[in-house]
Amino acid sequence: MASAPATPAGRPLNIILLGPPGAGKGTQAGKLVEDRRMVQLSTGDMLRAAVAARTPVGLEAKAVMDAGALVSDEIVTGILSERLDKDDVKRGFILDGYPRTAAQAEALAKLLAAKGMTLHHVIELAVDEEALVDRITGRFSCDRCGAGYHDRHKPPRIAVTCDVCGSHHFKRRPDDNEETVRTRLAEYRAKTAPILPHYEAAGLVRRVDGMAPIGGVEAAIAAILDA
Ligand SMILES: [Zn+2]
Repeated sequence: MASAPATPAGRPLNIILLGPPGAGKGTQAGKLVEDRRMVQLSTGDMLRAAVAARTPVGLEAKAVMDAGALVSDEIVTGILSERLDKDDVKRGFILDGYPRTAAQAEALAKLLAAKGMTLHHVIELAVDEEALVDRITGRFSCDRCGAGYHDRHKPPRIAVTCDVCGSHHFKRRPDDNEETVRTRLAEYRAKTAPILPHYEAAGLVRRVDGMAPIGGVEAAIAAILDA
């Protein structure tokens, strides 16, 4: 809805969405973009855009990636810095998947301070890890129409037949296996969760039940933004 105001009060809000992989950050960020015209800043997208636009930092990133190396925090911060200077960010931004580490959180704080920008909320999608593993490892989708299913919670009504389009072909994401999910959860717990106390001390953390249905999570986030 292009006519929707950024917020009811018209005040643009800048937020970080935090939560382990699979908690639904991407889905919720997408809804905020759609409903409130906020700008979603995900490091992967920003990196690809900077490389394509051949910005100074984008060229630097390209050289590093072409050499098969990992892009450093410094480059990621540089790309974020370029992105934050664009006009659309004034509608309010959502950082999704960044910062992931204490060092990145520190770099972000410096960057925002230097630009005179404010971080309003750090919204954590809290999850029950066992329930999340169950949710992720059972999901699959129709290869033809994309309809989503789950082995245990939402199997097709007729075995191996899509309820929506009747296709017999389904697909699973290769990352949706228990070992990968547990590794990523452990990584989140070890590296990203430790940045929360820092934001808690600043009074910025708002916790939302990430295990609630998508609409419930959406409503909880809206309540925070409209408060
Ligand atoms: Zn289908």
